[in-house]
Amino acid sequence: MSTAAERNARTCRHFTGIQNVCRADIDPMPLRQLRSEMSADAVALLSPGLPAVWPCTNPSLGHFCGSHVLPTAEEAAAEEAETQRLIVAVLGGLCPTCSKPLDVYEDGNVQIQSCKEHGFVSRGCKRAGGP
Ligand SMILES: [Zn+2]
Repeated sequence: MSTAAERNARTCRHFTGIQNVCRADIDPMPLRQLRSEMSADAVALLSPGLPAVWPCTNPSLGHFCGSHVLPTAEEAAAEEAETQRLIVAVLGGLCPTCSKPLDVYEDGNVQIQSCKEHGFVSRGCKRAGGP
């Protein structure tokens, strides 16, 4: 396992998620490597349960798209600080955008936090402790 700071430091600055075309206009899906196609040494580096991994977030894999750019140490630190700010706000029941208290409601076993102005913020299984 790695820390969020370590993951930020090795994630391409264009990456916006595996389901999104990145900021460099590259679809990351064709770049993925399936666990079943990787060597045992490479699989040992993966987080448990991940069926695939992307070079966008794991530069040691190679197979880059040609636009891969790692963040500077300052950019990675800023991303980590922003992530921590969002986590603290949401866990404190505040909207990460406007800092107003979030509404909390339930839909079955799903607990939902929402801001009146900015909409949906998070949701999680009530039986697993909520969002
Ligand atoms: Zn808000």
